[in-house]
Amino acid sequence: MELNLQELNQTEFPVPAELENNIAITSLSQLYNWGRRNSMWPMLFGLACCAIEMIATAASRFDFSRFGFEVMRATPRQADLMIVSGTVTKKMVVPIVRLYNQMPEPKYVLAMGACASGGGPFKEGYNVVSGMDKYLPVDVYVPGCPPTPQALLYGMIALQRKIDGQSIANGDDVPWYGVGTAEPTPVPVLGADIIDPRQMDMIRRQAEAAANNAPAIGARELPAITQVAVTRTAVESAAVAEAAPVSSDALTFELPTGGVPWTEAEDIREKRRLRALARKALRATRRAAEEE
Ligand code: SF4
Repeated sequence: MELNLQELNQTEFPVPAELENNIAITSLSQLYNWGRRNSMWPMLFGLACCAIEMIATAASRFDFSRFGFEVMRATPRQADLMIVSGTVTKKMVVPIVRLYNQMPEPKYVLAMGACASGGGPFKEGYNVVSGMDKYLPVDVYVPGCPPTPQALLYGMIALQRKIDGQSIANGDDVPWYGVGTAEPTPVPVLGADIIDPRQMDMIRRQAEAAANNAPAIGARELPAITQVAVTRTAVESAAVAEAAPVSSDALTFELPTGGVPWTEAEDIREKRRLRALARKALRATRRAAEEE
């Protein structure tokens, strides 16, 4: 939102002619947003390769100071904007959420690049968070791997437009304009894996259900086509078991060639197939025995 001073001088409210050039009339929200959108201070930190592009955006060629992102602050106390620039690992998401909680409100989050937006090339990696929005409310996503400085600038300008649309009269639109204090975002716990405290209740209920052999709560159901395949495999295995019941001894056998298993490279594929068949048949035999 650019303030048009001409418009502010020509309002529906009567202003004496001699004061027209000295009086501007606007809403408090507009004035407030105008001040905030042009003085967004990003927090000074970077996570991975995207941070290099962010640094380039701040440097003299692109110079995001021109848009009011004047100084990057090395403390959350003085920052309005968190640019998550890079891969978010499970180890780093803990201090990131803690830093976000330490930022004063109003505060904003910009996810820069494919990694911060959804995990990027490392999505589903054992140590990578699949998107910052799993833990923090992200206001703007900037796609790319990495995004160019121009793309980041565009994202920052998009954030300014978002701020323009906010109103201090609407507490639902922007929680921190409402009454009362905002709750801090729960800081994830890093153990053997990352745990979101907001999911503790569900995790506890799943653990209890597993202990009681009850169906898992909230478990993802298999697609219908997968269920059909699973059922068919079970039927085929049962047929194999019925035709030729096997015992666990069947898993230890010599290759048809008489060679020692796993030592002859040309037999590896065949051996794997036979072992898989034997295991399948053994499982089916056990299942049949349990049902009897
Ligand atoms: S999005 Fe690409 S450039 Fe950015 S941190 Fe991930 S891998 Fe690096």
